[in-house]
Amino acid sequence: MPHRAELTVPALRAWMAERGFPRYRATQVLAWVYRRGVSDFAAMSDLARELREALAAAFVISRLTPSVVTRSADGTRKLLFQLDAGAAIESVLIPDPPRLTLCISSQAGCGMGCAFCATARLGLLRNLSANEIVGQVVAAQAELQPGERISNIVFMGMGEPLANYDAVVEAIEILTAEWGIGLSSRRITVSTVGLVPAMARLVRDTAVQLAVSLSATTDAQRQRLMPVNRRFPLEALLTMCRALPIPQRRRITFEYVMLGGVNDTVEDADRLVRLLHGIRAKVNLIPFNAFPGGGFAPASDAAIRRFQERLLAGGVHASVRQSRGQDIQAACGQLALAHGGVRHETAKRQADRSHRAASVP
Ligand code: SF4
Repeated sequence: MPHRAELTVPALRAWMAERGFPRYRATQVLAWVYRRGVSDFAAMSDLARELREALAAAFVISRLTPSVVTRSADGTRKLLFQLDAGAAIESVLIPDPPRLTLCISSQAGCGMGCAFCATARLGLLRNLSANEIVGQVVAAQAELQPGERISNIVFMGMGEPLANYDAVVEAIEILTAEWGIGLSSRRITVSTVGLVPAMARLVRDTAVQLAVSLSATTDAQRQRLMPVNRRFPLEALLTMCRALPIPQRRRITFEYVMLGGVNDTVEDADRLVRLLHGIRAKVNLIPFNAFPGGGFAPASDAAIRRFQERLLAGGVHASVRQSRGQDIQAACGQLALAHGGVRHETAKRQADRSHRAASVP
């Protein structure tokens, strides 16, 4: 059989256009693939047989299958996917009735180097394709119990989504399209360390919710925790946040990982109130989940409470993230140190992967 290409949205549209098919034909095929989860062209019963055969000769429909699914006592489920060349990624299903949130990865590993994140130790292995991003959602849907439905998707797993911009935006199209997963863009959150120009593009190109991982209130502190701050210091980041045309009734989420003795003081809280002045913001305080060799300690419950109270007193919406799935290393900041320099051990241990410290809103 001649080489068949992986079916992607742009490739299918181009193939159909070259042959003079109307655009809706591609949409028909995409609905079979993404909405109905069919991976065999022969099953696409509303297409002519010749078209099905031509598609089958040209394309292969790829699927992601988790190599391990681990379930936490609190109902959190972690899906581990083994990709090519030893790269592995992870998605986490987090029940929080009535919501069921899926946290997905956008890259294998990550090149952003955040000091409090285990994924950073892997470095960037590679970008995921749009199919690999959406494939995590399709695979998670197959793991659902009767009556369950994924209500929210957050790009807060491995990787910096805006460093893989085109694939992430293509994936968002599939996630929100009627022929695709059919989720409202309000229910999709993209979390970034603050790649300022790409933030503006994302708000222009999509209608998803934006979350910014902040975790510090001075440039010196943030530079130490998040190297990206050298490229985009606080002032540039927050000036962009002020300028973004965020729709009324929406807010930018600022994620703040609470590190004991590092960024958890009352002075930090007061500075944060000042920094966020003029931005429709809500702050998500994330208790730090320690990992071996991480070098940081979690902030105490009392410090987190005090910090939250200071923000609220300053007129800033602030909530504390409840840690989920800790017993299966699926909580925020816990990382799949599964590969690369840190070799796979057993499949379960592999679950010890990074989930971005800036996590689920
Ligand atoms: S927190 Fe997110 S952006 Fe930073 S290193 Fe970890 S995965 Fe990358």
